[in-house]
Amino acid sequence: MPTHPVDIDMNEQEKYLQELLTKQAQGQLKPKDRYAIKPQDMPAQDAVKRRHAMSEVALGYTETQARLEAMRCLQCANAPCVEGCPVRIRIRDFIGEITKGQYDRALEIIKENSLLPAVCGRVCPQEVQCQERCTVGKKFKDVNMSVSIGRLERYAADLAHGGGQTPAVAPPTGKKVAVIGSGPGGIVVAADTRRAGHEVTLFEAFHKPGGVMVYGIPEFRLPKAIVQEEIDVLKKMGVKIVCNFIVGRTRTIEQLMKEDGFEAVYVGVGAGLPKFMGIEGEHLVGVYSANEYLTRANLMKAYEFGKGADTPIAVSKKVAVLGGGNVAMDAARMAVRLGAEKVYLVYRRSETEMPARIEEVRHAKEEGVIFCTLQNPKRILGNDAGQVVGMECLRYELGEPDESGRRRPVAIGGSEFVMNVDTVIVAIGNGANPLIQQTTPGLEFNQWGNIVVDENCRTSMKGVYAGGDIVLGTATVILAMGQGRIAAQAINTDLAK
Ligand SMILES: Cc1cc2nc3c(=O)[nH]c(=O)nc-3n(C[C@H](O)[C@H](O)[C@H](O)COP(=O)(O)OP(=O)(O)OC[C@H]3O[C@@H](n4cnc5c(N)ncnc54)[C@H](O)[C@@H]3O)c2cc1C
Ligand code: SF4
Repeated sequence: MPTHPVDIDMNEQEKYLQELLTKQAQGQLKPKDRYAIKPQDMPAQDAVKRRHAMSEVALGYTETQARLEAMRCLQCANAPCVEGCPVRIRIRDFIGEITKGQYDRALEIIKENSLLPAVCGRVCPQEVQCQERCTVGKKFKDVNMSVSIGRLERYAADLAHGGGQTPAVAPPTGKKVAVIGSGPGGIVVAADTRRAGHEVTLFEAFHKPGGVMVYGIPEFRLPKAIVQEEIDVLKKMGVKIVCNFIVGRTRTIEQLMKEDGFEAVYVGVGAGLPKFMGIEGEHLVGVYSANEYLTRANLMKAYEFGKGADTPIAVSKKVAVLGGGNVAMDAARMAVRLGAEKVYLVYRRSETEMPARIEEVRHAKEEGVIFCTLQNPKRILGNDAGQVVGMECLRYELGEPDESGRRRPVAIGGSEFVMNVDTVIVAIGNGANPLIQQTTPGLEFNQWGNIVVDENCRTSMKGVYAGGDIVLGTATVILAMGQGRIAAQAINTDLAK
């Protein structure tokens, strides 16, 4: 692996950059010079100190680092990276602007296709999207050597911090649009339909807008101020935001359309229903879904012990987090910050099969999370007061690949052992909340409770559109945004008829 670039004398780095820029200006910068530039590591908070800090772990590139990283881009004629981006950002072009120091222009290019670059630069799984296709990574046969597209996107977005322009809004059309759910998909739909001049109301069940970006993804990965800035832009555009409003309870979709005058409704309610293991002891005090645990910690500020958090979490000593995805990593790293002495990540396959991003796994390990792979709970043990006192587990080995292509975990008979824990956080996935299905006759759902849509995000009900996790199952911020853009286009087209 390359040496950490911030270890290099900053003046040396600057000198190196100037040499490269001079060569580039003279038309003498060859691909071999670009390949020779070391990938720039992201400066991060100290691993020990950050165990007690909620603030963001990754600190972002310096200007010199950003330009050096951008110089690694070959400016490929066919730009295969763009094909890997779900919203087709003109990656080559925005990186080219960064090499020139034209950061505003870089951001303009990104914003043509992505409304939330500061968010996506931080949380998109670039290593399986744009960066997986990058020619530089391919040359070294290592995705870690690809140009760090996400970090460059973040750099351009962060420079404009708070200074982004409020998009222009067309003259009023007199048409009303309801957006249900304020996650990334809902935010995009609200912005794009408001831009077209419609009167837009965004309904959110929680007391704060932002969806999973606010209640799920922790502050140490995605500062909430960034999401709030985007919400503020919506408000400046004239989008009405109504919180504590549960569609299906406060009003139904039918009432919104027939009685309240909304001609188009976008359903972006996400996938907020946690899955459990279905094992003995899951009812005990001290067992949480990752959703509940993270929502209490993020949205209800449960980490502010003694400062009036509405729903504090009991302090845990020994925590087991069940699962191997990003949500499990978030929950484990949150448990570390909430003061647990030991945090075990229990996963029934090996680390190779873990779906979590490599960076999240690395950060979790650096912060002291103990990885217990090829293990899975059989039952959770409680005391007479109904509190968790331990977890009986089985050891596993890997068998033949299953339909997902990952090797199947097989329990080893008689391998039971007890793990001494007082808290268990179940992070094995989420499903669709059935509320909209139960209260919206005529809306088609599939067997998993997800809304069925066509390629334009139109549902089986006229005037009703849907996207994001409620359609895709659990997906990603960028995919939800992509669907939001498609749905908004369909709404604008249909309302113009
Ligand atoms: C802990 C965690 C970590 C994640 N990490 C990443 C990551 O690193 N990168 C990534 O790309 N993706 C990540 N994801 C997934 C990503 O956040 C989601 O795919 C994405 O947010 C889905 O967007 P959405 O538009 O469907 O709405 P969501 O973000 O799911 O928001 C839906 C909103 O609708 C509201 N709502 C629900 N029902 C109603 C109702 N009946 N009436 C009114 N409002 C309602 C909810 O309160 C919520 O605010 C993570 C998810 C979780 C849970
Ligand atoms: S594939 Fe990689 S090197 Fe080529 S244009 Fe995209 S980011 Fe640059």
